Amino acid sequence: MAGSINKIDSDFLKKDIRYLKGVGPKKQSLFRRIGVKTVEDLLFLVPRRYEDRTKITPIKDITPGENVTIQGRITLKGKRRLFGKEGFGIIVDDGTGWIEVVFFVKNMRNLFSVGEKIIVTGRVEFDKYYQKPIFIHPEYSIIGKDSNDEIVAGMVIPVYPQTEGLDSRFIRKLVYEILKNDLDFPEYLPRFIIERENLSPLSDSIRKMHFPDTIEEGEKARKEIAFRELFQFFWRLNLERENLRKAYPLSKKGTLSTKFLENLPFSLTEGQRRVIKEIENDIEKNVPMQRLLQGDVGSGKTVVAIYSMLRAVENGYQATLMAPTETLADQIFLVLLNFVSGLPIKLALLKGSTKTKERRQILHDLKEGDIDILVGTHALLTEDVEFYKLGLVVIDEQHKFGVLQRYNLWRKEEEYTPHLLLMTATPIPRSLALTLYGNLELSLLKERPLGRGKIETIIKVERKRDEVYSWVFKKVLKGEKAYVVVPLIEESDYSREKGIKDLFNLYDYLNVIKPDGINIGVLHGRMKTEEKRKVMEDFRAGRFNVLVSTTVIEVGIDVKDATIMVIEHADRFGLAQLHQLRGRVGRGEKKSYCILIMSEGVSEEGLERVKALKKYESGFDLAEIDLKMRGPGEFLGTRQHGFGGFRVFHFYRDRDIIEKVRDYVFKLRENKIKLSEEEQLALSKLKERLKEAYYVA
Ligand code: ADP
Ligand code: MG
Repeated sequence: MAGSINKIDSDFLKKDIRYLKGVGPKKQSLFRRIGVKTVEDLLFLVPRRYEDRTKITPIKDITPGENVTIQGRITLKGKRRLFGKEGFGIIVDDGTGWIEVVFFVKNMRNLFSVGEKIIVTGRVEFDKYYQKPIFIHPEYSIIGKDSNDEIVAGMVIPVYPQTEGLDSRFIRKLVYEILKNDLDFPEYLPRFIIERENLSPLSDSIRKMHFPDTIEEGEKARKEIAFRELFQFFWRLNLERENLRKAYPLSKKGTLSTKFLENLPFSLTEGQRRVIKEIENDIEKNVPMQRLLQGDVGSGKTVVAIYSMLRAVENGYQATLMAPTETLADQIFLVLLNFVSGLPIKLALLKGSTKTKERRQILHDLKEGDIDILVGTHALLTEDVEFYKLGLVVIDEQHKFGVLQRYNLWRKEEEYTPHLLLMTATPIPRSLALTLYGNLELSLLKERPLGRGKIETIIKVERKRDEVYSWVFKKVLKGEKAYVVVPLIEESDYSREKGIKDLFNLYDYLNVIKPDGINIGVLHGRMKTEEKRKVMEDFRAGRFNVLVSTTVIEVGIDVKDATIMVIEHADRFGLAQLHQLRGRVGRGEKKSYCILIMSEGVSEEGLERVKALKKYESGFDLAEIDLKMRGPGEFLGTRQHGFGGFRVFHFYRDRDIIEKVRDYVFKLRENKIKLSEEEQLALSKLKERLKEAYYVA
């Protein structure tokens, strides 16, 4: 690389990696594959692991199979054949013994001279022919002669993610050369935090992450970089909040919400009470609430949502609830009608399929303030939906909506920002939730309401399919209802090859073996909304008592007397999905069953997932396991893949600092930390730069 540079400034960091010596178009595109475009990216490339080469092993003590570093003198060199290949060999002697070192390159003659001192690092192999230990193509450096290779031995060295054609050794050299220069990263973290957390300057951390003195030092340096990265991330999210306007404070507690609670046929769970308190604390202020309510399926989020909306109404404002599908919107509307019957409030339902005339009336009434609570789907997001005084927005199953849509809805209100309650039944581990929803307050409903039926989870193998269904049919004939979920809609080459039951052949199969009195319905994602709704209605009403479906029933469907969930090829589903599916049963008082049918030739991970589902009931426990098993991708989904632009921060390894960093940002936002002028300046500079990129060095 350009040896003339001795101060690394931000211009240099932004340079394409191709600028570096030895990186041509081919290496450039290989670097892209591991996410490295610029010099800066390279400096933030986290070593996969380190190799401790600080320990020199006497040659007499080395054992084949181990990674060791030796140091000795070259006593012999020459051509060497090994495994039928032409190569070059040297003998290294350290006084305790000697070993042969072989390279598969013909002309290395000039690289070595007899009598030179050399350090060799690598895995010791065993030469069967001579019955002796041997090094095959190890890393080496010649002491005092080969200044280019000063990073090979006697140090803790980084091992980077490799891809074919781009090996760790090359990357290491490149990084090493850059780090020979002066690094000068600007500091944005308030000194208060740096001192309190005892952080090293960023430049030092970068240096140490690549070339630490000990492996522990390397990990500590990485974590310090992750800390800064996370801070910037949360700070950026925090900036979004600056765009929010004031909110209407909903401080009055009136008869609507009180009556609603009195009329409930059950008492609130401990969790519901706690969450309601948290919400009340927020909405009483004139700062808009931004709260996410996470609650397992069936944990009773709807009641909390209705209560919150009533609090808006009794303060003289409107509230709205948006659901991701028409079916869910219908369902919530029905629940709402039922729970608030007798209370003096006006409700409306707005969907894509709402007839023009009715729609016009709703829009008119809404604008006049004649509707108190509006339930709907995406249809709420169109331009012409105008509220009179929108005080609170609830978004159910928020993960089904894009971030932009969420934004739109609260932007509709010009002068005021409504309080926002997001709800999700997708249990994600706390570390992820804290980050993914880094600008939101979090509430959690973990427990299921008391008195709800228990769910027994049973694992069966495919061979037992007939048995499973004859047991299911027996139960159904006694008045219960069953879901059967399959992974695919129709037969394909893939399903034939893998022997996977698809929706239609399972449907046919069940129709052949079913006794009288069993009526089977079909539901899948390719059906029209209206058709789907009809099937669900028929199932609810009992015109079907078995429903074969794909995972379309996953979200929010509530049929209380469905007590059996059979999942075909359960091992093929993700853990989160399995958990969601299981949550479709156990909604009434009766005992429920979730039967997991495993594919023949189930994979190890598939089996692990199915077993975890049997073992754990709570979605949050399962989510932690999932995070460990599959990494964060599983939770973030494809839409949010690459979320956050993190380069160093790792959801699992750094879960211990998330809360701390988040806390700092929240405190700063609420002005709970007094900053010096200098610190304020640094933060506002950061703000400027964050507008450009996720992470700036
Ligand atoms: P989810 O969190 O999945 O949206 P719901 O709000 O639909 O859950 O609640 C699931 C079921 O539990 C509903 O039938 C609801 O009426 C009932 N429920 C809610 N809260 C309680 C409670 N405290 N005690 C008993 N049943 C409750
Ligand atoms: Mg719900």
